Order: sequence, then structure tokens, then C-alpha cells
Amino acid sequence: MNKSKSYGDMPSEEFRKYGYQLIDWAVNYIENVGSFTVLPNIDPGDVKSKLPNHAPQSGEPINKIIEDVDKIILPGTTHWQHPNFMAYFNSTASGPGILAELISASLNVNSMLWKSAPASTELEETVLSWFREIINLPKEFWGIIYDTASVSSMHAIAAARENIGFDIRKNGMSSVPKLRLYCSEQAHNSIDKSVLTLGIGLDGIRKIPVDSEFRMIPSELEKAINEDRANGCVPFCVVATIGTTSTTSVDPVEEIAKICTREKIWLHVDAAHAGVTAMLPEMQEHFKGVGHADSFVVNPHKWLFVPVDLSILFTRKPEILKQAFSLTAEYLKTVEDSSVNNYMDYGIQLGRRFRSLKLWFVLRYFGVEGLQTRLREHIRLGQLFAKWVDEHPNFERVAPTPFSTVCFHAKPTGWNDEIKINDLNEKLLNAVNATGKVFITHTKLNGKFTIRLCVSGLRTEEKHVELAWNVLQETFQKIFNES
Ligand SMILES: *Cc1c(COP(=O)(O)O)cnc(C)c1O
Repeated sequence: MNKSKSYGDMPSEEFRKYGYQLIDWAVNYIENVGSFTVLPNIDPGDVKSKLPNHAPQSGEPINKIIEDVDKIILPGTTHWQHPNFMAYFNSTASGPGILAELISASLNVNSMLWKSAPASTELEETVLSWFREIINLPKEFWGIIYDTASVSSMHAIAAARENIGFDIRKNGMSSVPKLRLYCSEQAHNSIDKSVLTLGIGLDGIRKIPVDSEFRMIPSELEKAINEDRANGCVPFCVVATIGTTSTTSVDPVEEIAKICTREKIWLHVDAAHAGVTAMLPEMQEHFKGVGHADSFVVNPHKWLFVPVDLSILFTRKPEILKQAFSLTAEYLKTVEDSSVNNYMDYGIQLGRRFRSLKLWFVLRYFGVEGLQTRLREHIRLGQLFAKWVDEHPNFERVAPTPFSTVCFHAKPTGWNDEIKINDLNEKLLNAVNATGKVFITHTKLNGKFTIRLCVSGLRTEEKHVELAWNVLQETFQKIFNES
């Protein structure tokens, strides 16, 4: 039995003692995370089989719970903090971000209204204004923090839908002609999910073809809009992506923005992963035209070392977003309503975590220069890896590398049978990941099984990228000899 009484919280002394112990635990974990295999060696159900089927009737000592973290949780963990995690898009949590989470959980304010959380509301406003400035968005952009890019985009698309009129707020979708949203074939499937959620339906999306570098073709967009208008559909939103999920390709936002302005269609830019690189002067070419967008999403929880989750939606039309979502229940009315941001008015959730705190900690601790230096290093390492691939006779790149994500495959000299090549690469990827030394993932591009390596983790250095390359080459040689 633990010492807590039948009512009340854990005693302060116990909280303090185990609090110190857990800080040590966190520091040791992060210091030694590289000694784990990146992927746990487990089968589905292994974690559950170690957990009791029922909740304990009486309380258990905290040290026993903590012991089970080491015994049950760690062996079932994919180590996102690992320097050799180069799968998907990284999310790595930094020290200042983790410490801020402790404060956020301790305060445990609910930032639904200014009244319910004045400091949280005003810090969110200030930190997002800083952030807007460092990523070079115009002053008119207003920001809000949601949990994920999927949710940010869903709110942007809801605002786009509100923006076309028809009083959808009141009438729902019954009175509306068929709506159309446009994004490229390479857009993230969170856009499809938004359209599902908002009652537009998957048929309401037109996937616009891409060029040889996986970028949306503006003339194809124009053609699709014209066709749809001729058929009585209502084009209401274009989603352009800067840093697509498969290849980090960049849609030509400037040209797309011109079409959207002319056609009076809401332009949403999805820059969930790559958006943070807008703070680098040398990457500005990828962000041309974003100032003309109606909304823009970027995730500091991906490539900016803020613990999951924190996604920012910027929009130049917050009043439309508010129109789409605000309702005022009597018990939530406050005297300050007309002079403050009540963030609950800008989305479906009422309760909101104090997320701005961790972004504030990270921005202040590293400073803009510190963040820029880290992003630049990741981009340098990505480009270096791309060069190694280019120089190897048995590997080739399958897409350009605008940032630090490299899409490539093994293609032994003289091999031309696509099925055989795909099969080889699938085996190669599985074997590489089975070593436990690195974790990388794949995508399919024009029918090609493509291996995808992303360098954007806080702890990833040149030696780790080198190791990944060595493991890939050695594993390739083994599989190739056996084939
Ligand atoms: C990661 C990503 C998303 C989804 O992000 P979540 O925060 O996990 O919802 C959407 N779009 C792009 C381009 C992404 O990279």
C-alpha cells in the first residue's frame, strides 16, 4: 500500500523524491537512447500480455509503477529519440521542451477562454507572433495551436467551406451544391480525412497530377477547376504542400496562389514538416507565394524539437474560422469576451492544453540562431547522404532532395526488371530495420518501391548517417549475393 490517505493527492515528500528520481530517469534515457535497438524486438500483444487484465483495487507504490516502465514499457517502445531513427518525419523532444511539459502538467490550466487561462492565452498569442515573424509570414496572419497538422488542416478546410457562403453553419450540407477541393496526388491523407469529416466526401477531392519532381502542375489545377465549374460544382479550397510526405516535394505555391486569387478559392498550405525551414534565408525559394495563402500549417513537434503534440495553424481570416465554430453557451460568457481571444471559439475543442509553454521554452533556449544551425546541419547531412547514393553504382535517387529527406532505391547495374528491383528493395529495407541499428521507412513512387531516409532528429549527427549508409550497403551486398 502507498502512503496516500483515502482522499487527497500523493504526499509532497513522495512527489519530490520520485520527481527527482524521474528527472534522472529521463536524463539517463536520453543520454543512453542510442544503446537501444531503434525498433523493439517484439510481436503484437507482447506488451499487453505483461499487463494485468484489471485495474488494481487498492493503490500501488509509485516505485513499483516506475519499475514497470522499465520492465514493460521500454521494451515495447520504438525509440523516436534515437539518433538512428530516420523513419517517417522525426519528432524529437528537447530538454527545454520536456521541462516545459512538466510545468504545463503542474499548472494544468485549461486554455478554453482568456478568463480560464490568461497567461496561456497571451503567451500563445505572443509566441505565435514571434513564430510568424521568424518564418517570414506577413503580419496579417493570426495563429492558433492545435494538436496535429491533421486537425489544423481540418479547421482550415472548415473555414474554407464557411467562406463560400450557403450558411452551412445553419443548414449543414443539404443546401449546398457539390463542393470540390484540390490537392496534388502527393498530398497527405489528412486532407482526405478532413474531407470525410466535413461531409464533403472523398469524391469531393480532385487529386491534381504532378510533374516529374512530384510537384502539382498548375495548368492541370486550372483545367480541373474549369471542368468542375462547367459541371455545376463549387471549387472552394486548394491545398498546396511544401514538403510532401513521400518526397518532400514543393508545390509551386506562387502560381497556385495566382489561380486561387483569380478564382476566389481558399488556399491552404500544408507545410507540417518542412515549414520550419522558412526560418532559413537560403530556403526562401521554397516558400515563394505563401504570403498569399489563406492558411498555413506547420508542426513544431516535428522538426523543431518540441515534444508531441504542437501544430500551428496560421490564417489571414481568423474571423471566418471563428464564424465556422463559435457558439456561446451562457456558462462560458465572460465580461472580457469582446476584448480577448477565447481560443475555444476557433475550433471544435473546448478544453485545450497549455501548449505554447513548450514552444516558448524551445524558442528561448535555443534562440532563432540555435534552431537555424540545427536545421542547416540536418539539411547538410541529408544532402551528404544523397551524394553518397548518387556516387554509388548500385543505388540511385528516385526523387530530388529539397530538404533532408532522401528517396532512393538499390538498382544493381544491369537490372531492369521493375518487379525484381522492387522485391530486392523491400527485402533490403526489412533486413536493414531488422538489424535494429537504424529505422528507415519506404514509399511508392511511380510504382517503384522507394526507401526513404529522413534526417531531422535532434540527436542525429554525421556518424549516425554514415552508420545508416554502411548498414544499407552491407545489407545490400548480403541480399544481392543471395539473390
Ligand atoms: C506529418 C504531416 C501531416 C500530418 O501531421 P500530424 O500532425 O501527424 O497530423 C500532414 N501533412 C504533412 C505534409 C505532414 O508532413
